[in-house]
Amino acid sequence: MIPETIFVIIFILGACIGSFLNVCIYRIPRNQSIISPRSSCPFCKKTIPIYFNIPLISFLILKGKCKYCLKPISLVYPSIETLTGFFALILFMKFGFTLETLFWFVFICVLLVISFIDMATQTIPDIISLPCIIIFSLSCFFIPEISFKDTLAGIFIGGGILYFTALLYYLIRKEHGMGGGDIKLIAMIGAATGFKGVLFTIFTGSVFGTFLGIIIIFKKNEDIKLKIPFAPFLSAGVITYIFFGKQFIYWYFNVLS
Ligand SMILES: [Zn+2]
Repeated sequence: MIPETIFVIIFILGACIGSFLNVCIYRIPRNQSIISPRSSCPFCKKTIPIYFNIPLISFLILKGKCKYCLKPISLVYPSIETLTGFFALILFMKFGFTLETLFWFVFICVLLVISFIDMATQTIPDIISLPCIIIFSLSCFFIPEISFKDTLAGIFIGGGILYFTALLYYLIRKEHGMGGGDIKLIAMIGAATGFKGVLFTIFTGSVFGTFLGIIIIFKKNEDIKLKIPFAPFLSAGVITYIFFGKQFIYWYFNVLS
């Protein structure tokens, strides 16, 4: 098979899984089953036939509208399908046909679900983050450079840093700044990436978050306190680590010192 064909197949497979992630993002916060019933239009409740449930293509054919009631289909759906396909592709290009690719793909899928739920509802469901701390602590079997000790360090150092930051904020401001959901999420990230990864994630996630915070404050021209979901920034931070972390750490310790 020529490489281009493999790339296209990987992207399509990724987009199909993205379609399932959409189901998770919509149903988990509503406490609905992610297995049945079949997908339906959120407005007219008509079940979507299988041939109108093809990732990306259906959205284009239907021109972004429900076939029955013509209400617009949220752009979130094709965006998640595209993102999932894109991550499947670039993971494959970086790590090839390996267990490492599989592990990071599952991990990024979970991050996408958590981030979009956090953006929509300002909560991170424990039903995802808690079991995933255990699941991703199997990282030492998939990622060559991670040991089980590293995993434990990642969980407790990452979770600990966010816990004490939240506690400090509460003691100073007498209000909750960061949710417990963020603490469980960072423990999950630590389980997958070890302590180097979790420190990198907290650092870059905070930089991304601060950067966006500054832009919003400037645009609105007032110092309002916004409830910015933290999960997308932590996810962006850890995804940066997966792709560039090794180079960054090398650069930091060899070029700067
Ligand atoms: Zn409809």
